[in-house]
Amino acid sequence: MSLALAGSAAAEDIIVVSPIRPPQAPAATPNFTGRVQVQRLFGAVEPSRVTGGLVIFEAGARTHWHTHALGQTLIVTAGVGRVQQWGGPIQEIKPGDTVRIPANVKHWHGASPNSSMSHVAIGEQLDGKSVEWLEKVDDAQFNVALPNQSAPTASAGPSRARQLVGSVAPKLAQLTDDVLFGDVWARPQLSKRDRSIATVSALITMNRPEQLRSHLALAKQNGATEEELSEVITHLAFYAGWPSAMSAAGVAKEVFQQP
Ligand code: MN
Repeated sequence: MSLALAGSAAAEDIIVVSPIRPPQAPAATPNFTGRVQVQRLFGAVEPSRVTGGLVIFEAGARTHWHTHALGQTLIVTAGVGRVQQWGGPIQEIKPGDTVRIPANVKHWHGASPNSSMSHVAIGEQLDGKSVEWLEKVDDAQFNVALPNQSAPTASAGPSRARQLVGSVAPKLAQLTDDVLFGDVWARPQLSKRDRSIATVSALITMNRPEQLRSHLALAKQNGATEEELSEVITHLAFYAGWPSAMSAAGVAKEVFQQP
């Protein structure tokens, strides 16, 4: 088993099962900002050149900019994270997403400012090396407010979100942003409570528990009761599916337990 885990072990003709190793405490690591846990899953065993590792980023943690001579594949397993290639927009990544990094494309990946993220990273070695590390991703590059991630507030409201959407985000994000921050949010003919119910319903349907949390808190503040929101969730289950409704019910329970 130890042979299979070593860097360039000789090929063996037996199947090796390696159990998961106990988690360690996240730590500061060279070529990363913030606290991460890098757990090697498998090394390259000849004739294969493929390596795999699990990387757990605490909120705010990310890699430095870097390239991979033969590219890299990331499979997101938990949390909400970010990936960006040089000159391109930050893209949000979620559990189940597979991210293909092309060869020699400068990029970084990591958590979100307010959420941790874990991914399995699969790479290929060229002359025993799979990554070329570059400069740090500074706070200004990382702490970009993605338009569909933050709750609307007086200061960081529609105009800032629209500005960002106009420059970086694809059409779907534009639509989401318009729904969340635009028309629904500013309708004088709808009470705050009714607007909140519409927004919360949209977030449940789109299965966005992270944004749902802040909007549910806002709905509570705007006068929507726990019973009403519970009815909304039950009603939506038939349209949005039970998994989305169940995850919304969990978030609602937490929000309404808070004083
Ligand atoms: Mn990478």
